[in-house]
Amino acid sequence: MEKSGKYITGVYPGTFDPITKGHLHIIQRASKLVDRLIVGVAPNTRKGPLFSQEERVKLVSEDIANMHAKHCEIEVEAFDELLIHYVQRKKAQCIFRGLRATSDFEYEFQMTGMNAQMEPDIETVFLMASDKYQFVSSSFIKEIHALDGDISKFVTPAVLSALEQKKNQRKS
Ligand code: ADP
Repeated sequence: MEKSGKYITGVYPGTFDPITKGHLHIIQRASKLVDRLIVGVAPNTRKGPLFSQEERVKLVSEDIANMHAKHCEIEVEAFDELLIHYVQRKKAQCIFRGLRATSDFEYEFQMTGMNAQMEPDIETVFLMASDKYQFVSSSFIKEIHALDGDISKFVTPAVLSALEQKKNQRKS
C-alpha cells in the first residue's frame, strides 16, 4: 500500500481488554501505511471484558498519546455496530488486523472472508506480530496478573496500574 496522493484511512478494530504492547506495535506499524488510523474499540460482550468499553477507550488513548506517528492522525473511539458498517461510515479503505502464529488464523480467515463478501472494496491488511509480542494476548495478561505474575514487560505502566486497581476493587 502506498501513500500516493490519495488520502487513506484505516481502521484497527479490537476489544483491547486491555491494550498490550503487541497492539501498540501494530498501531505504530499501521500508522506508517495510512494518513488516518482509527482504533475502534468494540464492546465484545461475547468475551465478557474486564474493563468497560469506556475504560478501554481511555487506556488506548493514554497509551497512544506519546506515540510518534509522523504524517498520520491516530484517533480512538468506541463503536458498537457491525464492523463493516463502521468502516464504511468512516469512509475507510482498509481494516488492519494483527496475526499471531496460527492461533489467530482460523478466526481472522473467516472474518475477512465474510467482510469481503459484504464489502469487496474494503481490504483487510494483516500485520504479522513481531517475535517479541507473538505470545502476548490480553487474556493471558489478565490471567497472569490475577495470579500475581509480572506482566510489566507486556503492558505500559498506565495499563498495569489500571489492572492493579481492578484487582483491588475485586478484593474489596
Ligand atoms: P479481537 O477481540 O478483535 O480479537 P483483540 O483486542 O484481542 O481483539 O485484538 C485486536 C487485534 O490485534 C486482532 O487482530 C489480534 O489478532 C491482534 N493482536 C492481539 N494481540 C496481538 C499481539 N501481541 N501482536 C500482534 N497482534 C495482536
